[in-house]
Amino acid sequence: MEREIYMDYAATTFIKPEVLEEMNPYFTQYFGNPSSIYHISRKTKGAIDMARDRIASSINSRNDEIYFTSGGSEADNWAIKGIAFANREKGNHIITSCIEHHAVLHTCNYLEEQGFEVTYLPVDEYGFIKIDDLKEAITDKTILVSIMFANNEIGTIEPIKEIGEICKQRGVFFHTDAVQAIGNIPIDVKDMNIDLLSMASHKFYGPKGMGALYIRKGIKIHNLIHGGAQERARRAGTENVAGIVGMGKAIELAVQNIESESKRLIFLRDKLINGLLKITGVKLNGASGDKRLPGNINVSFEGIDGEVLLMSLDNLGICASSGSACSAGAIEPSQVLLSIGISKEMAKGALRLTLGSETTEEEIDCLLEVMPGIINRIRKNYT
Ligand SMILES: *Cc1c(COP(=O)(O)O)cnc(C)c1O
Repeated sequence: MEREIYMDYAATTFIKPEVLEEMNPYFTQYFGNPSSIYHISRKTKGAIDMARDRIASSINSRNDEIYFTSGGSEADNWAIKGIAFANREKGNHIITSCIEHHAVLHTCNYLEEQGFEVTYLPVDEYGFIKIDDLKEAITDKTILVSIMFANNEIGTIEPIKEIGEICKQRGVFFHTDAVQAIGNIPIDVKDMNIDLLSMASHKFYGPKGMGALYIRKGIKIHNLIHGGAQERARRAGTENVAGIVGMGKAIELAVQNIESESKRLIFLRDKLINGLLKITGVKLNGASGDKRLPGNINVSFEGIDGEVLLMSLDNLGICASSGSACSAGAIEPSQVLLSIGISKEMAKGALRLTLGSETTEEEIDCLLEVMPGIINRIRKNYT
């Protein structure tokens, strides 16, 4: 294997060197417990405060509205279960979409077992929910709407500001899973009327096992972990100081470069999409233009098994995905792809390529060069 082409940035990213550099002293030199009062602890406490400020300013929230978690899944679980159980007397109805990440979908499934009612909104052929469907679904029992900012498989960016506006008018809490969006598209929780927002550091060049939940001040939500006073007593436990520092630095870098980097990725994305669409029997999944995540490509090939395609690419040193990382290896085709109305066969022939900071035009050209041959070979072997 001569080359290594990583095109799975939506699954996870590496840690940027500047991020690691800021984290390092907090593993060894500055190890003090942030809750202690001596001087080495003031250093760690100060570092946590600074990271919280950086994250808050990246989404235009207050710093006391940011709560650190162990990642995106934990933030999603907390937001949905925390709101559901704290607002039970107001109602038992939750609205989400059928293309959410499993961290949202399976949490909603669990709440159904606990006596809650969940509406799973359908999406159109591009993966957008319809605002009219949302308006009709809200009843006087509805307590929460949870709609993802951008989809992890097909890259569709939902009409978040309009959803926020409706939730505000109807007095319903609005949570968004922004794990794929943050660092790629500008987010303003005030302007967009977002009450709760989930993020995960390893999707924007920070460490794994680190995330945050933004909870708008004054919202009624259950605490997640009972214990000490950390995270304003809502999520107890000694902080992952190095992780928090890394996440803060990573979000700062992502937001600084957001405009130029998204322009660069959109150019590479569209070159790759246009090149792939020249192959016969191929279809683009998801939206185009500025309603699609800058680094996301998702196409389906007729008469191709996605898993076989992934292995062929892997043999050439190319890392890609057939769906979300969680559903890779599963036999059932992606629920997201079935929800946008494509056939089971085409869903099984899907390929997701996600680009990031190290992606070059050379890599795009290389992929476009090898793809027609790979597709031809697989089709010949299977017919
Ligand atoms: C990756 C991802 C998650 C889960 O985040 P973890 O940090 O891996 O728990 C949740 N939602 C979306 C949209 C994701 O892409």
